[in-house]
Amino acid sequence: MAGRLHELDTNRVDKNVWLEFTQLAADYKAVNLGQGFPDFSPPKFAREAFCKAVSGGHQMHQYTRPFGHPPLVHILAKFFGRIVGHEIDPLEGVLVTVGAYQALFCAFQALVDEGDEVIIVEPFFDCYQPMVKMAGGKPVYVPLRPKVGGSAVLSSGDWVLSAEELASKFTPRTKAIVINTPNNPLGKVYKTEELQVIADLCIKHDVLCISDEVYEWLTYDGNKHVKIASLPGMWERTVTIGSAGKTFSSTGWKVGWAISSELIIKRLKAKHQMSVFDCATAAQEAVARGFEREYELFGTPESYFQQLPAMLHQKRERLASCLGSAGLQPAMPEGGYFMIVDISSVTVDFSDSMIPDDEPHDFRFVKWLIKEKGLATIPVSAFYSPEHRKDFDKYIRFCFIKEDSTLNAAEDILRTFSQRQ
Ligand code: PMP
Ligand code: GLN
Repeated sequence: MAGRLHELDTNRVDKNVWLEFTQLAADYKAVNLGQGFPDFSPPKFAREAFCKAVSGGHQMHQYTRPFGHPPLVHILAKFFGRIVGHEIDPLEGVLVTVGAYQALFCAFQALVDEGDEVIIVEPFFDCYQPMVKMAGGKPVYVPLRPKVGGSAVLSSGDWVLSAEELASKFTPRTKAIVINTPNNPLGKVYKTEELQVIADLCIKHDVLCISDEVYEWLTYDGNKHVKIASLPGMWERTVTIGSAGKTFSSTGWKVGWAISSELIIKRLKAKHQMSVFDCATAAQEAVARGFEREYELFGTPESYFQQLPAMLHQKRERLASCLGSAGLQPAMPEGGYFMIVDISSVTVDFSDSMIPDDEPHDFRFVKWLIKEKGLATIPVSAFYSPEHRKDFDKYIRFCFIKEDSTLNAAEDILRTFSQRQ
């Protein structure tokens, strides 16, 4: 039997960047600015809503509506309908999933057929590529590139798509494009003009858009998150994906959603029904209460969607200044909770740490940083296709949604960093 199992599939499981680096960080008890999750609790109102749900009636412990707990789909439709300027039917236009991950999986399974091409903007959240392939599709990559000319790249906004290069990727076989704004790992927040270029091409070539917007509330310095679904002609061809894990700092609740036209959501529902069928009731109830609260407080200083980015803005500044004093120049993220840094100026002797030399430079660097310095980060080439990994192996990603004590510990390591080289 074992001979029948496909070797490639098992390799993929072992090679997962999150498994590998989270394990390594734990083994070396490293200060962990690697995998993206808060090392603090969700806000009090969200925790209380969860506790109330769990200690509530027996229904909270039983199955709920398979395509989304009714209070949750109602408030999601109301909330996002207001933002996108389009009436959303809570029962037909929203699907609740096991995190944004499952929304992405259902979207690829439902919309991509054998031989379809799917354009993926690099760097990309790593699961897009295998998910496209699992659906029988062919990933076609188009890179965000640091702007040439001028001095160093100072902001994630300096990473841009070339409109001509993007246009050249659309063919009669193109079924969809996947975008991610704010972007993981860069922190780039796409501007309306940039989204309009993508939207025009989608409309011209009759292509769908899968828009991963899990970090939508986290933007800084006046940058505004714009939903591509709100641009003219895009609503009926866009699947917008969100995550309660990012929205309420509760990644372990694993509640996500997809919002789109009834036609598209119907196809996603079919995949959801045959994979997980139903999501955890109490977690959905708590997320519904969180959104109801935010609906009332929207735009006020009490809103968590104002407070969280304000808190993260401080953490971003702090991490950037620690990195700067260690001689490392970050590209300041406009959104999200990650920051990338160019490590090409740092010379390291890997020989003492027995780090294999057949890996990209950033993978080796991150292993060295964990083993020798006790600081965990993530290599950025993991967010590129194997074909392009080599060209982008000089950056590492830091996560800053961490307690101040964790950032202090990272700062202590970074302070000694340049001196010990
Ligand atoms: N998309 C992006 C860009 C992410 O960073 C994450 C984080 N894991 C996800 C999707 C998945 O989100 P969730 O934890 O809700 O499944
Ligand atoms: N989104 C998180 C990150 O980018 C977690 C990824 C994961 O665990 N798969 O770090």
